[in-house]
Amino acid sequence: MTQTTISVVAPVYCEGDHLPQFVAALAAELTQLKSSCGLNYEIVLVDDGSSDNTWAVMRTLTAQYSYLRCLRLSRNFGKDAALSAGLAAARGDAVITMDSDMQHPASLIPEMVALWRTGNVDVVDVCKQKRQVESLLSKLCAMTFYRIFRALTSYDLQGSGDFKLLDRKVVEAWKSLGERK
Ligand code: UDP
Ligand code: MG
Repeated sequence: MTQTTISVVAPVYCEGDHLPQFVAALAAELTQLKSSCGLNYEIVLVDDGSSDNTWAVMRTLTAQYSYLRCLRLSRNFGKDAALSAGLAAARGDAVITMDSDMQHPASLIPEMVALWRTGNVDVVDVCKQKRQVESLLSKLCAMTFYRIFRALTSYDLQGSGDFKLLDRKVVEAWKSLGERK
């Protein structure tokens, strides 16, 4: 049997300054996970047409971390497209998606993986307990969106974002949808 692998996928736009710190924090968690649970891992970063030194930094980091794979989009397509490209490239049995700007704490990864490994969970959705300081209008728009979405679909996405763990079968189902928008 091949070893269980966790992929971490992150879209990256003009994060050259923080990228080494982000990858180091991630690597520390993943290395720890390997020694405690024997899990294999890879990191997939997608440069979404950055105009800073992001790609050069990625190339330097790939020399340092053998399990780091980097993709580069031909221009800036937006984070959802970058995330899609990363999901398509990920090879893990579970895929963790997260932002690369350090706003999603890598320290939560062991707990996410532990929940998945119970075998009863296909998606782990990390939710914000509090929203950042923002304008009243922005708060109202967000609240209205979540209410309407919940009324129409019965899914409560309040506080949820791009920090998630998806089982391989969820990634495959998502890939089969073929929607672009
Ligand atoms: N990002 C991207 N393409 C973009 C804008 C952002 O790949 O055009 C990346 C960015 O580097 C970060 C993540 O997507 O890792 C979330 O972006 P941002 O921090 O701007 O979003 P927010 O924190 O407001 O959700
Ligand atoms: Mg952010």
